[in-house]
Amino acid sequence: MKIRVADIKDKEKLLSGEEAISHYPTLMQAQSDGQCEFLSPVSISLSVVREYDHIRVHGSVGTEVRLFCSRCLAEFVDTITSEFSIFYIRSDETQPEDEVELGEEDLVSVTFSGDEIDFTDEIAEQILLGLPYKPLCTDECKGLCFTCGTDLNASECSCSQNSTSMVFSPLKGFKVKQ
Ligand SMILES: [Zn+2]
Ligand SMILES: [Zn+2]
Repeated sequence: MKIRVADIKDKEKLLSGEEAISHYPTLMQAQSDGQCEFLSPVSISLSVVREYDHIRVHGSVGTEVRLFCSRCLAEFVDTITSEFSIFYIRSDETQPEDEVELGEEDLVSVTFSGDEIDFTDEIAEQILLGLPYKPLCTDECKGLCFTCGTDLNASECSCSQNSTSMVFSPLKGFKVKQ
């Protein structure tokens, strides 16, 4: 998604739409790395406004992905959404010794040059940030038995008792000195 700089006014401008994953090289890369599978295009809504010497963009992006649970390896579908604010500052207006004081901590500032601003990189980055580092099918996922590989969400295995006591066995006989 792009906007012509000349079209950005003091009054907030809203942009929205959907873009195919193939439009985003870094998302295609994440998919071919097996991090996830994108099931829907990226939906984007941005508000763009000129403020002082910068352009402020507040946006929300989202898409649907298929992930593998990092505990039980089950496939599941999740919705990734991310909200962000970015300041775009024209690169020839930024002096290296002139630090930009943004005031708000989690604001990102990005420089641009030329007649238009291309949001592609930032949108892809926001989607990637939204992907879980350790995906879980549910927060309570019990995972697989380390010994026999049984999915402990679906059933109990006969070795689950043993593996539990093995985990705690180093603590047997351990006494807290008062
Ligand atoms: Zn799981
Ligand atoms: Zn087992």
